[in-house]
Amino acid sequence: MPLNIVVCVKQVADPDYFNEITIDPASGRIRREKVPSILNPMDENALEEALRIRERFSGKVTTVSMGPPQAKEVLDWALILGADEAILLCDKAFAGADSLATAYALAGAIEKLGEVALVLCGNAAADGDTHQVGPQLAELLGMPHATYVRQIDFKDDETLTLTRAIEYGHLTIEMGLPALVAVLAEINVPRQPTAEGIMTLLEKEYKEWQADDIGVPAANLGLDGSPTRVAGMYEQKIERRQKVLTGTPEEMVKAVIAELRNEGLL
Ligand code: FAD
Repeated sequence: MPLNIVVCVKQVADPDYFNEITIDPASGRIRREKVPSILNPMDENALEEALRIRERFSGKVTTVSMGPPQAKEVLDWALILGADEAILLCDKAFAGADSLATAYALAGAIEKLGEVALVLCGNAAADGDTHQVGPQLAELLGMPHATYVRQIDFKDDETLTLTRAIEYGHLTIEMGLPALVAVLAEINVPRQPTAEGIMTLLEKEYKEWQADDIGVPAANLGLDGSPTRVAGMYEQKIERRQKVLTGTPEEMVKAVIAELRNEGLL
């Protein structure tokens, strides 16, 4: 049962360096020059799951990313890890996209690819973290979807059995293919790159598509297609008052309780 699987991958700022991100007080823009970019961690789990499914059933794994030219780095990484093909959606027309416009662009690309049995996404991107792209994409593709998935099994050639994390437990659900599944980090441990993966990178298929290539109306893409707007940005300043108490431990405890009552906190 060969399966065509698409994995949506996003280049994100490395969460280990989030403390280096600042806001330019003059322009209000985010400054992240010192922050390296990586493949969104949960997308690496989605890719790993796709590679395991391909190893079991055969088929093809295609990775798709919408982003600036440097997003090619994460697609190269995915090809090194074992994806068969990578597509970068790169065009000024995509700039300023919110999650809905991102989903429109990805949907256009996936429809252009033709018959796709399974679309895998990360549950969330480490930076934007809206968790919206997967479900919106499924809706646009007319596919059922499941989020928070921590295990994917196949009941038969046409039906998935999914384990979905919920508060205090999990749900087991069945879902017909084609479907979109958004996975959690706990679903697997992604593989490490191999020398063979690096050597075969240049033999793999890499494509760049612009807005005209995916047949999505301009009104649905980029800033024009984005119903959300960033209304403002500010750096949160946390100011602390300090008070040093003196006396015996009993006196200090009494003073703390009085102070907290005074502030309406007790
Ligand atoms: P989530 O929904 O949390 O991601 C879930 C999964 O969807 C990911 O794990 C991945 O599998 C998939 N996915 C998400 N994004 C992509 C992608 N781009 N390619 C492939 N797969 C993906 N960001 C910019 O970088 N530049 C901008 O100019 C910009 N302008 C914005 C303007 C507005 C008004 C708003 C609201 C946001 C803007 N953003 C911009 C942020 C951008 O919209 C989000 O990063 C993007 O929509 C994805 O949302 P998310 O990061 O919350 O992804």
